[in-house]
Amino acid sequence: MLLSVEDLSVHIGVINPLSDLSFGVDRGQILGLVGESGSGKSLTAMAVMGLLPLIGGRISAGRILFDGTDLAKLPEAALRGYRGRRIALVTQNPMTALDPVVRVGRQVDVMGRMHLGLSADEARRRTIELLTRLRIPEAQAVCEAYPHQLSGGMKQRIVIAIALAGEPDLIVADEPTTALDVTVQAQIIHLLGELVRDRGLGMLLITHDMGVVAQVCDQVAVLYAGRLAESRPAEALFEHPLHPYTSALIGCIPRDGMAPGSLHGIAGAVPSVARYPAGCRFHPRCPRAGEICARQTPELTELTGAGRLACHFPLEGTHG
Ligand code: SF4
Repeated sequence: MLLSVEDLSVHIGVINPLSDLSFGVDRGQILGLVGESGSGKSLTAMAVMGLLPLIGGRISAGRILFDGTDLAKLPEAALRGYRGRRIALVTQNPMTALDPVVRVGRQVDVMGRMHLGLSADEARRRTIELLTRLRIPEAQAVCEAYPHQLSGGMKQRIVIAIALAGEPDLIVADEPTTALDVTVQAQIIHLLGELVRDRGLGMLLITHDMGVVAQVCDQVAVLYAGRLAESRPAEALFEHPLHPYTSALIGCIPRDGMAPGSLHGIAGAVPSVARYPAGCRFHPRCPRAGEICARQTPELTELTGAGRLACHFPLEGTHG
């Protein structure tokens, strides 16, 4: 397994926004980490990137095994050798990821020079190859552009090129298509899928959009209020969701031919970290909640076959 997160818990001061999170990502595989805003997805990305200290956070339990090394135990100086070079981050807003006063070609070049020791000419040659691979027309000319001269989709491709230029093994993509319109979103998602499979990378794709997950992910981990609700192979999960929250998220995906008014959201909202309810944190919003749900946290159990589930009254399926 390229990345194996085991029983990860995160604290920010005395607050515990993430508990007992486990999932794995292999080479050539995309794992979708899904859930509404406030579920702990971006915090997980920060933990994997070793960036929790930026927000006063720390890993309070668990391991983040990357290629056999526990990143949770590494000091900042050692983590710098992983970030950008072996684990790259693609963020959701290309305008904050790109330097507005530096031509985009140079922003890609610098990664090849810094992480791979390439000369200026070699780095530029690779940048043009990368941009062409990312289906940017007239890549050589685009290298000379400033970010504001490019469309949103083009800027996001540049951000992906920067992530790939250090030849990482793992990409952490945090809502990489949220800022884009639907057509460009689909192009970028398919491109990411191709890159992962062609280059044998692993990808942790963080999104609130189950439609995006359905298109591209091999595995899915569903987070609710800082805990894992269900994690399973994508095909099985979409065919037979076992956790009521997963089922509700899938019910929010618009489909062709849907009758007007038949698309429903999930009533209520994710509780804030200071007000997590006792028992199952989803119980105030769950249509299947029983009396036990309000007082006893459902244990995370291994499923026969593959995956994990935390629910007292799962939906019908092949669980055990
Ligand atoms: Fe719903 Fe109970 Fe399952 Fe929580 S444990 S998801 S409240 S049925």
